[in-house]
Amino acid sequence: MAKNKNELSPMMAHYKELKKQYPDTIILYRLGDFYEMFYEDAIYASKVLDLTLTGRDCGLAERAPMCGVPYHAVDGYISKLIASGKKVAICEQLTNPKESSGMVKRDIIRVITPGTNTIEEMLDGTVNNYLLSIVRNKEKTKYGVALFDIVTGELKAKEVTAGPLSEIEDYLMSCAPAEIIATEDICNESKQLNTVQTERLVKFSRYYDYFFDFDNAKSRIQKQFGVYGLEALGLSDYPLCVCAIGGLLEYVVSTQKRDLKHISRPIILKDDNEMFIDYNTQKNLELVETVSDRKKKGSLLGVIDKTKTGMGARMLRNWLIHPLQKPEDIALRQNAVAELTKNITLKNAFAVCLANIYDLERLVTKISYLSMKPKDCLALAETLSAMPTLYKILQKLKSEYFIQLLNEYTDVSDVAIRLKKAITSENTPSLAKDIGYIANGYSEELDKYRAIKDNGGKFLKEFEAKQREITGVPSLKVGYNRVFGYYIEITNAKMPETLPAGYVRKQTLSTGERFTNAELTELEKEILGAYEHCVELEAKLYAELLDFLYEKITILKQLADIVAKCDCVYSLAEVAVKNRYVRPKINTKGVISIVDGRHPVVEDLLKSNRFIPNDTILDTSDNAMVIITGPNMAGKSTYIRQVALIVLLAHIGSFVPATKADICITDKIFTRIGASDNLVRGQSTFMVEMLETANILHNATPNSLLILDEIGRGTSTLDGLSIAWAIVEHILLKIKAKTLFATHYHELSELEKLFHGIKNYRVLIQENKDGIVFLYKVARGGAQKSFGIEVASIAGVDKDVIKRAKDVLVTLSETHELSGDLINKMSNNTEKETCVACEQISMFPEDEDFVKIKNILNGTDVNRCTPIEALTILSDLKKIISGK
Ligand code: ATP
Repeated sequence: MAKNKNELSPMMAHYKELKKQYPDTIILYRLGDFYEMFYEDAIYASKVLDLTLTGRDCGLAERAPMCGVPYHAVDGYISKLIASGKKVAICEQLTNPKESSGMVKRDIIRVITPGTNTIEEMLDGTVNNYLLSIVRNKEKTKYGVALFDIVTGELKAKEVTAGPLSEIEDYLMSCAPAEIIATEDICNESKQLNTVQTERLVKFSRYYDYFFDFDNAKSRIQKQFGVYGLEALGLSDYPLCVCAIGGLLEYVVSTQKRDLKHISRPIILKDDNEMFIDYNTQKNLELVETVSDRKKKGSLLGVIDKTKTGMGARMLRNWLIHPLQKPEDIALRQNAVAELTKNITLKNAFAVCLANIYDLERLVTKISYLSMKPKDCLALAETLSAMPTLYKILQKLKSEYFIQLLNEYTDVSDVAIRLKKAITSENTPSLAKDIGYIANGYSEELDKYRAIKDNGGKFLKEFEAKQREITGVPSLKVGYNRVFGYYIEITNAKMPETLPAGYVRKQTLSTGERFTNAELTELEKEILGAYEHCVELEAKLYAELLDFLYEKITILKQLADIVAKCDCVYSLAEVAVKNRYVRPKINTKGVISIVDGRHPVVEDLLKSNRFIPNDTILDTSDNAMVIITGPNMAGKSTYIRQVALIVLLAHIGSFVPATKADICITDKIFTRIGASDNLVRGQSTFMVEMLETANILHNATPNSLLILDEIGRGTSTLDGLSIAWAIVEHILLKIKAKTLFATHYHELSELEKLFHGIKNYRVLIQENKDGIVFLYKVARGGAQKSFGIEVASIAGVDKDVIKRAKDVLVTLSETHELSGDLINKMSNNTEKETCVACEQISMFPEDEDFVKIKNILNGTDVNRCTPIEALTILSDLKKIISGK
């Protein structure tokens, strides 16, 4: 009877039903050994994954577009789909097709999103893969942000005070999340943000407002962590964090469709606990990656990361972008680093021990997902076997930091022993499938069935030999296939005229016939029974092993944390010894004093001691601001950045590249460096420069460190100079933050004469008949020339151009407005504010008066004038000032 072609097949109807529930995801629908995609998913995936698009009968006249991927290679395909910006839902077979009558039961077992991805090949093991959630209060003045790394289980949250979303955009970028979920209004507002993917901020995706409501969020958190109130988690004072965490947890549980035991208790990030480094500064200082190619090599992290484990590398990266603020926290780490730098034997022992440790955090995630493979179990066993050595090293160390770690340590020898006993170490299969991954000797019962199964092979060989003899066919074979089981196969060419008694035909092939007989049927029963028993038993034993590991998650996570902390301190000690860093003193007096400071990255690149060290002094009085001038390429940028990097390293507990350093607690580091266009944001070079400057001026405090490189360069010389001048004044008088200001405007050197608190420095060069030689030495005083033309010449600019440039320069210098008495002009406009310098120059209130005073003083010969004349002159001057 012809089939009615107007009704979807039951399977396709089920698929369509699922698609309604997961409209914005690609559904991978398991059919036997394949995951299939249908309709628009198939059309999309066939292009992204380069698959052949076929069709499948779906009950209707028109076939459903379809493409598929083999189940064992699905990870790679999922990774590509996620990378293309899609979410992927896995629909699995929940009943055994062999055993189920009717349609196989299938359902979505997990939704993989960019922020909940655990596929190892897709993730950089040294970087956290964050899912970020964000909520806002009714007044739209405060945000709650939660960050979660599904691989490590790390969960943290922070309240951020700001107005519109664009005000915290920078903070969100510095978190570099893989996925952002938010309430509806925030998502709508996010569309107005001009940030694009290249700037790292991913698109916001909407998640139900309902789950971000305080009450719902609170219950979700309580359920997850098994507590009866928020107090137990230290969350009661952070309602917006509660909303962000609760919504995030709901999203994670609903996509992962399981309880995740490895999620850590949330940590609230507080501003006074850590130094603030905005995204621009992180980028400009190349803390974790270079600006040019976004590689770790060439960044500060590239120099100081000597960690041996994935979790150590991730933690050190976090330390670097979240430096400490409290002197006691810094001292705790410093003492530990110091102890290791002095005890080379123990430092080396750490190195050897840590090298044997796999990424325990990731293994714990696999335990949480029950997705440990036999090889993972062995990696875990090896890792845990290294723990007693780590413990012994810790026991020998005296610093409080190590003592704390020792107190957190739990012995897990039993886990290591059980794993080693359970999993076969020879030819360990990659999947816990079929047989052969549980070790001999782990279970008596398994060993018994294995013996039968193995002897079965011997019996079959004997049986085969016997049949060859009986039939007289030496090429007779005994074989096995899944459908027909064991058989005797004889080719047509060798078929005997009469078959032995008892031979029953099982299957006819084009090349021959397959038979069985009573003896083979009996043998089959015994062997297959044993084989099936082995499969079942191994699966059962493995499941028990995973359950056992599941119960150990909390302890294992704690051990992972201990390993990471040891690894970070080891890394800092190693780099301190190798690169000759010293322990900085930490003060709360607002003084930064560095002797022979070096730029850690430039020094590393130059190697062989060619880096020229320089001193720095910054404080809250005489040396609040350093203005540094010098020719192009002289080393100004290097110098001011090196100060920022040394201050930062001191705040993570690291030693620093110098011979002596005393560093004050610094709340924020800001940098305004280089002129980078952000044309994709529709902002010109100068606009970007000014936006960044405005941000710094709004947020810097007296305890901040500002690194300003060539502010004002993006516009005309006069405008630029005026802006730079005004900014210097504002920082010095109003903000009072310690500042290093590199500039080509030599006129700014005049500020030293006007303001108490400014010191001029220049980078020395040597002029000779062939041009200039860079000395890279910083000295007191301002530079008089830029030597831009000389640098252009060194760079190989055409000789004619150089000659012409020199001529133009001479002409311009003769007529240029900026040369001459700019100081006089500017001093009259300088703000008459509190500083000593201002009070001094406020004796010249008006231009006219100033000229009068100047004329009187110029006409006076101090050496010849009598005391009476001097008093008369003084009286005249007073009259001018008082306007009488
Ligand atoms: P511009 O004004 O053109 O931006 P600059 O004065 O800021 O130049 P830098 O970029 O800091 O100069 O330095 C130029 C190069 O000089 C660096 O890349 C580095 O190779 C070298 N250099 C800088 N400082 C030192 C130093 N202290 N010792 C040795 N080499 C140095």
